[in-house]
Amino acid sequence: MSLVINIDDIPDDGEYVFDLVEKQGHFKVDPEEGVLKEDLHVEGSLSKVGREVLLKGSISTEMEMTCSRCLEPLRYKVRSKVLSRYVPGQEADSLDLDVELQASDIEVEYYTGERIDLTQAVYDQMMLSLPLSRLCKEDCQGICSQCGINRNKKNCQCSDGDSVDPRLAVLKTLKDKLE
Ligand SMILES: [Zn+2]
Ligand SMILES: [Zn+2]
Repeated sequence: MSLVINIDDIPDDGEYVFDLVEKQGHFKVDPEEGVLKEDLHVEGSLSKVGREVLLKGSISTEMEMTCSRCLEPLRYKVRSKVLSRYVPGQEADSLDLDVELQASDIEVEYYTGERIDLTQAVYDQMMLSLPLSRLCKEDCQGICSQCGINRNKKNCQCSDGDSVDPRLAVLKTLKDKLE
């Protein structure tokens, strides 16, 4: 299985409707971003506009990422639209001007030969759809910078930062003396 479609399958006047599944292990994701936890579904349509092919699709899968505060894994459901124009590679130079004028919100990809590979467009769109702030929950307490404990699971006695309450410091010294 792969996200490749034969251009011959696309009718000259109409749409080629597809529904593809890529096994989670077959779709490479930058490990810095996360790992797929579900197969990747891409459905949509391809249509021809002269020598160009227009992709309109939607992507769904689930990713496991890392909470940026506590470093615990978190699941994120990817639901994204993908829009892309495929321009024949050998004609790309002559189309540059045209591409720039129209590329405002549609990604432009190049194809060579008689097949269109949706992988790059799907991957780019997936990455764009990931949230900027990756938190396991809105009020994640993160990891204590002093003892390293996950504050969502346990409380620790460390104070925040370097600001030790002077009154507590005095009490502690007294207590130490008495013992
Ligand atoms: Zn967290
Ligand atoms: Zn602590």
